[in-house]
Amino acid sequence: MLHACTKDRLIDWCRQALRFVLPVECLSCGTELGADPAPCFCSICWQSIRPLQQPACAICDQPFVSPAATTFTPNHHCHHCQERPPAFQRAWTLFPYLPPLKDAICSFKYRGTYTLAKPLARLMIDALPSEIDIDMIIPVPLHPTRLREREFNQSLLLADQLGRHLARPVSATSLVRISAADPQTTLTRQARLKNLKKSFAVRRPQDLTGKRILLVDDVFTTGTTLRECAKTLRQAGSGPVFALTLARTIETDLVPDRILAEQTTQTSNKR
Ligand SMILES: [Zn+2]
Ligand SMILES: [Zn+2]
Repeated sequence: MLHACTKDRLIDWCRQALRFVLPVECLSCGTELGADPAPCFCSICWQSIRPLQQPACAICDQPFVSPAATTFTPNHHCHHCQERPPAFQRAWTLFPYLPPLKDAICSFKYRGTYTLAKPLARLMIDALPSEIDIDMIIPVPLHPTRLREREFNQSLLLADQLGRHLARPVSATSLVRISAADPQTTLTRQARLKNLKKSFAVRRPQDLTGKRILLVDDVFTTGTTLRECAKTLRQAGSGPVFALTLARTIETDLVPDRILAEQTTQTSNKR
């Protein structure tokens, strides 16, 4: 059996050789790829993916418009969490859902570029909050119909890499999706909530009793999916539930100026 490092080197070598024969362009800026470390993206675009660092809700990580929100109350909660405290104890969302990360996630998820699973999981691992202390990892499940269409669950591929890094088991069968919800991206928060009610179920609840669980998903949009998953797990007797997502959709006025400026430069370079 090949050692993991040797295997990675071999895959990397094959990718470089393929690029020599069939030059590939960066999905974000169109530059021809050379010896770039991540598949489908040039080093400059990949390195421009920076974590969210502004003050955020102490429960759901929703960034605040003003840093003043946490000046005197460091554990300030956003109005959504105050009105309806979520079943998860803490959600961490690591990067803004903006190009080039957005391009990478879309390609990974909708065009089946699963070679991006490792580099995307590496981004998560490098930005992992130090306070994460859990017993097991559960990816947000896809409904079997959606799974058949897509052929893989992107959250499971990310969770698998995280599980290896954190040396914790990953269960892809404990939490299941029992109703095929409409695609969530086009719905309002209220419609999403209604759509997701009783969409999830726990199999073998005895395996989760008292366990600290980390839910993993690729994108945090309104948080309703994670809220429903966490509620289902807690009702089945799990211990505290935490959530980790690679990226988060945020209002443009909450995106730090530095990141917007970099995006504008990249877009103008493309023209
Ligand atoms: Zn690029
Ligand atoms: Zn919140």
